[in-house]
Amino acid sequence: MSRASEISIFTEMTELAARTGAVNLGQGVPELDAPPALLADVSAAVLAGRNQYPPASGFPALREAVAAHQRAHYGLEYAPDGEVLVTTGATEALASAFLALTGPGDDVVTFDPCYDAYPAGVRLAGARLVPVPLAADGDGFALDADALRAAVAGARRPRLLVLNSPHNPTGKVFTPAELATVAEVCRAHDLTVVTDEVYEHLVYDGGRHVPIATLPGMRERTLVISSAGKTFNATGWKVGWVCGPARLVAAVAGVKQWLTYASGTPYQEAIARALGSVREWSAGLRATLTANRDLLAAGLTEAGLRPYRADAGYFVQADIRPWGFTDGSGFCRELPELAGVVAIPTSAFRPGADPAPWLVRFSFCKRPESIRTAVERLAAAPAGVTRRTAPPRR
Ligand code: PMP
Ligand code: GLN
Repeated sequence: MSRASEISIFTEMTELAARTGAVNLGQGVPELDAPPALLADVSAAVLAGRNQYPPASGFPALREAVAAHQRAHYGLEYAPDGEVLVTTGATEALASAFLALTGPGDDVVTFDPCYDAYPAGVRLAGARLVPVPLAADGDGFALDADALRAAVAGARRPRLLVLNSPHNPTGKVFTPAELATVAEVCRAHDLTVVTDEVYEHLVYDGGRHVPIATLPGMRERTLVISSAGKTFNATGWKVGWVCGPARLVAAVAGVKQWLTYASGTPYQEAIARALGSVREWSAGLRATLTANRDLLAAGLTEAGLRPYRADAGYFVQADIRPWGFTDGSGFCRELPELAGVVAIPTSAFRPGADPAPWLVRFSFCKRPESIRTAVERLAAAPAGVTRRTAPPRR
């Protein structure tokens, strides 16, 4: 597991792409732009002089818009005053939650692989991460209910469970049965749940996002975290939010005020308006991303790699063993030279022992031309790979 002070894999791989001119299918940074009306609203807010601190808890209209969004999409009721907190991206919400709710001696349970900010944030809080493997299952990834139960039962002082659905880096959406299992375990062990739902509007093929807070007995123990970054192709704006019962939100707010206090006034104002029409906007975005995903998956197959199913989000997992590699980390560092493409080794998302070091994550939140170029290059590469790696690595 990497140390909190190490450079993140996203920084490393994005620099590698810039240095080599490779197509960057590594970092989940969209090449697509935000809705024009949202861009115009932000510009107008900046020019209108809305450039000073917002309230520490967030611009009131955004807190109201978030509460209205949770009600309209999921039937979840939150009071804009006290049960909704605006943060500097989901990242600050996650870090604040870990720092507020855990400390030395506490255990935080999450699924492995996981987004790399979880182990880093848990370590900053002095707590310990307990990873529960998501096993590759057919062409997807599945929760092992027994492994989850055993991990929680065997934990020293389990405090928190972090659930990320839709999931980075696998593109998995937890099924209703899996959510019910997670909820049952959290209720039985009195765990607080932190959910990372930043890909909530990016579920494909007619699937639906179900927040675990909607399950019986879960709202009162769950902090729901999301952000505008993925929903509006605006990852650089870093506007996120947390919803939950007042006592949990107050604890998070208490830490958040010492991290950034507040940020992004013009963005907050504009996103408050955009959230009202997220249904219309996100339908178009899903159509674009679905086509991108299909293009990428078909191209990976054509190139001789083995892609997994991605039901949501920005990423496709691929098995690189057909190319004679077993180590995704080495593969990703060679790939710019081999094929002019950058990807991220899934091992970077493994806080526990890595059962599948041959998995590599490719991102499809890009312009279709970039994906087309990348898959053409990958399809042209295997001859080179065979030469370089003969005899094939095992
Ligand atoms: N959670 C997950 C699962 C992510 O993939 C990301 C990446 N953007 C974040 C959180 C961070 O969100 P934000 O940019 O809003 O801080
Ligand atoms: N969430 C993005 C990813 O998984 C990266 C965010 C970041 O660079 N910190 O690729």
